[in-house]
Amino acid sequence: MLKNQILKQYFGYDTFREGQAEMIDSILNGRDVLGIMPTGAGKSLCFQVPALVFSGITLVVSPLISLMRDQVQALVANGIPAAFINSTLSSAQTAKAIDNARNNKYKIIYAAPERLDLPEFLEFLQRSDISMVTVDEAHCVSQWGQNFRPSYLKIRDVIEKLPKRPVISAFTATATSEVKEDIIRLLSLSEPGVLITGFNRENLSFEVKKPADKYRTVITYLKENPDKSGIIYCSTRKTVEEVCSRLIGDGFNATRYHAGLTEEERTRNQDDFLYDRKAVMVATNAFGMGIDKSNVAFVIHYNMPKNLESYYQEAGRAGRDGTPAECILLYGGQDVITNQLLIDSANDRDEMEPKMLELVKEKERERLKKMTYYCHTSDCLREYILKYFGERTVGFCGNCSNCNDNFEKTDITEQAQMILSCIARLKERFGIKMVIDTLRGSKSEKVLKLGLDKIKTYGIMSGVPEKRIRDIIHYLVLQEYLLLTNSEFPVVKLAARSKEVLQDNAKLSMKMPRENEAGNSLAKAA
Ligand code: ADP
Ligand code: ZN
Repeated sequence: MLKNQILKQYFGYDTFREGQAEMIDSILNGRDVLGIMPTGAGKSLCFQVPALVFSGITLVVSPLISLMRDQVQALVANGIPAAFINSTLSSAQTAKAIDNARNNKYKIIYAAPERLDLPEFLEFLQRSDISMVTVDEAHCVSQWGQNFRPSYLKIRDVIEKLPKRPVISAFTATATSEVKEDIIRLLSLSEPGVLITGFNRENLSFEVKKPADKYRTVITYLKENPDKSGIIYCSTRKTVEEVCSRLIGDGFNATRYHAGLTEEERTRNQDDFLYDRKAVMVATNAFGMGIDKSNVAFVIHYNMPKNLESYYQEAGRAGRDGTPAECILLYGGQDVITNQLLIDSANDRDEMEPKMLELVKEKERERLKKMTYYCHTSDCLREYILKYFGERTVGFCGNCSNCNDNFEKTDITEQAQMILSCIARLKERFGIKMVIDTLRGSKSEKVLKLGLDKIKTYGIMSGVPEKRIRDIIHYLVLQEYLLLTNSEFPVVKLAARSKEVLQDNAKLSMKMPRENEAGNSLAKAA
């Protein structure tokens, strides 16, 4: 069956989302993949669809027991034979599940990493036709990642024990470049197709504030936005209690959530927020897992979280309905100290050996540093986040507090025309540097020897700083007016869209650092 048919018949959807078809095609071509997509982007379909195309069984390794159960239930409800094996099953149930699996009753089997080397299970795997091994939450294999799970290191050994090497697909919502490399290495992915997509949430605006009085900033915001529903995240239960009772005392319609409350109260407060009986939820990071409220208009962080993964996940609960929403981080120097203490004092993780624990902590400190830089940078905040997650960016988003303060929208039509026509006249034979040198009228030996000073666009941008031209060229590449070849020395070529500028006079603008009278960029000076 074709992938689109499967999508429709088993899942009831008509079209794939960004990245899904590409991932599925790679897998079906027998290529390992690593998909880095945020929560909710639709990772599951990327392995569930190929699992139905493959002749054999797909083994999905997942650490989240509750998620496993949900996914298996959803698959079974869609008519896909699936099962899970984890610590919630009794040994009789496990034996039964393995027995069923041996009799080819399942197409997809979920297993917790700790179960992989159960002798009966391993034996079953070795005797079966395993087409694919999918590793969900793949960042758990890395000490650089959040929630490092030593049992993830077993996955590779198990795969090596299989008679035929299956396709390996790995997925995660959070992977910095270190984590990405760890996943590839520790799972032995072979020349994987890596896809990082879906991190940019255009409807979210980002803001960092450093107020002397955080509480005052919150109530000012709430007063200015009286009809909006939102979450205020605090780092400790104590702060949740304080902020929530002050808000209620000041007449705001607020409720609270943290792990210290009874389950009954947590459920009640959560429902009050979900069903719009309370507008503001003051909570620790215990709140939000699996919560899908579409009309969250703001997420305020009363304290800086310990890393950008946490921050972006929590902030990302705003604006699920696609309408504009605000993510505001209230930074205070104390937040760094609190987080440092939290990292230093966590000593009871997964029975980790002291040496390993120290390494993990070191990496957490490193991630805390990057979170802290976010609060101090004067560059585009969205770009900072997207870069952290490894996604391509355009530089200035125009929808964050730094862009609004430091950047302005600039008409670049004329400059883009000059650049594109220069590239045309250079017959698309050179790299970015030569294009810039030609435009700026360089007298370098190379330029003169090649006779580039004779072409018509030589020197027409002589007054423009090299950096500016380079920024515009990068922008034109990202917007697909230009393309860079994949060779050792990349050559700039005109892409199909360049016609829009060269022939149809399309207007182009981009966000650039604001220039002051002296021509210095304020962004740099700040
Ligand atoms: P993730 O694992 O990335 O967090 P899920 O796989 O759970 O995300 O998907 C999130 C939601 O999006 C699910 O409700 C899923 O059914 C839905 N979804 C996934 N792919 C599509 C699609 N192509 N069209 C419509 N809905 C989709
Ligand atoms: Zn920005």
